[in-house]
This record gives sequence, C-alpha cells and structure tokens, in this order.
Amino acid sequence: MTSTQSKPLHGKGRECVITRRACFSSSHRYWLPEKSPEENLSLFGKCSIAPGHGHNYELIVSMGGELDSDGMVLNLSDVKHSIKDKVTGQLDFRFLNDVWPEFNVDNQEGILPTTEALVQVIWHRLKDDLPLTSLRLYENPNLWADYFGKNMEAFLTVQTHFAAAHRLAKEEISFDENKKIYGKCARVNGHGHNYLVDITVKGDIDKRTGMVCDLSALQDTINDLIVEQLDHTFLNKDIEFFHNCVPTAENIALYISDILKKPIHQLGATLHKIRLQESPNNAAEIYVDQKLTNSLKLKFENSLVTQT
Ligand SMILES: [Zn+2]
Ligand SMILES: [Zn+2]
Repeated sequence: MTSTQSKPLHGKGRECVITRRACFSSSHRYWLPEKSPEENLSLFGKCSIAPGHGHNYELIVSMGGELDSDGMVLNLSDVKHSIKDKVTGQLDFRFLNDVWPEFNVDNQEGILPTTEALVQVIWHRLKDDLPLTSLRLYENPNLWADYFGKNMEAFLTVQTHFAAAHRLAKEEISFDENKKIYGKCARVNGHGHNYLVDITVKGDIDKRTGMVCDLSALQDTINDLIVEQLDHTFLNKDIEFFHNCVPTAENIALYISDILKKPIHQLGATLHKIRLQESPNNAAEIYVDQKLTNSLKLKFENSLVTQT
C-alpha cells in the first residue's frame, strides 16, 4: 500500500522516448533547371535520368515526453493518424518533386528531394503535431539520414560490407598468454568475418542540391579506400597497419575512421561515426569528433571495479 502511494500510478509524469515506424513508396529525380544536362548528369549520375526512379522509404519517428495516467507518452492511434495525414498519406505512390512545394526546383527556394532534405522537410511538417526527438529515414537498408531539428544539420549513413580474416594475438607474448586474452580468436591460422560497416557523416544540407555531401563521391571514397583495400584479405598480413596492431573490431573501426576522416572533410562533410559489426553478437563504434562523456567513463570504471 505504501509503495503504491509513493510511486506515480502507471508511471505518470516519468519521461520516455517512443518510436513509430511508417513506410511509403515514392519516386524522385535529381535535376536542377539552372544546370545543363551534362552538369546534371555529372552531379547526380543515374539519379538525373528522366522521368525518375523510386524507393521504398522507411521512416522512424522518435517522440519524447512524460507518461500520462494511461501509461503512455502519446496515444498511438493519434500518432499513426498524424504521420499518415501529414506524411505517408501525401507521399505514398507520388513523385516527390511534384507533391510538396518545398521540392519544386523551378522555384529558386526549391530543394531536391534527397534523403536528408526529405527527412528535414518531414520534421517541419510533423513538429507541430508530435513531440519529435529525432527522425530517421531509410532510402534503402544501406542508406539513411537522421535529423534532430537542428536547422540544416543532418547525418547521413552509408552501410557497406567486406569479408576478411584475422587473428587476435600479440607477437611479443606466448600463445598461451594470447589465448588467455583473446580466447579462440588467438588460434594460429585465424578465422574470418563478414564485416558490416556503417559510415555516418554530418554536415549542413545544401539548400539547393539537398545534399550533405556528394553521395556518389562519398560512396566511391568508401569503396576505393576501405572496401577495395580490406575485402578478401588476411588483415594481419595484407594490411601494413595491422603488422604491429591487433586487428580487433575496435582497431579496425579506428583504422577506417583514420583513413576516411580527411577525404570526407575534403568532400565538405565531417566524419561523425564508424560502426563496425563483426558478427550479430558484437560491434564497435567510434565517435570521431566526440569524447566519451564523463558519465559513460564513470560507468566503465564502476563496472571494472565490480568485475574484480
Ligand atoms: Zn533515389
Ligand atoms: Zn574475429
């Protein structure tokens, strides 16, 4: 009885973030009337071909707030209705360039409907209805944009993959000592993984092209500098960096971030994060321009203390 009285009923007043997923299929075309056909082709590649092409988009809407007396941040049927009314109902099976005036590039204020421009426009169309904390829009499973309501700033993630072998062992210590540290991963002939890499860049969306940076140049950079170099290699032997550095998931992620940081800067964006997934069970994330917060560090220190 006492505990019921001291706790708010059904979590009322406590904070929570909820997400809702919604899908729509739309077509678009990247074409700016002030550019020549050659310039459009060189800027946007196949995306400039008329009459356009389509994607099955997936939108993840995150909303935050205090729980009401029913134990909910928001009534989900209201959320569904808002998203359908303001976004998916208007965009599904439509040509994005025509459907919303924001994407009318015959108007000087118009912006091309790229993933990052689309997620930003969706934010502005939903923000008065829903207490948004973030939006994620997948153009396909390997390309998505995140937006947090900060003016023109958006995050764009490209996912790619490579297959490689490695062995986790330090040259300077014995096999038994390596086994104690790295377990089965220290076995002498190595083993392999199909690595998944998420490369997240941050930048301001260009008010005309709708892009944080040239997407095909970004994809070429990742392909040339990472995938082509690492795919089907034995990392310890084939990649010079790993001659003296144990190729753990953490070190591979760091290596990728060190290689990509400058070329991505040259493309006009900032490398924000590398996530390397080694298997369904483990992944490493490098936040390139951020330090771990003190509270996270404290958690690590505490967990180390309790383990010993
Ligand atoms: Zn497209
Ligand atoms: Zn491994």
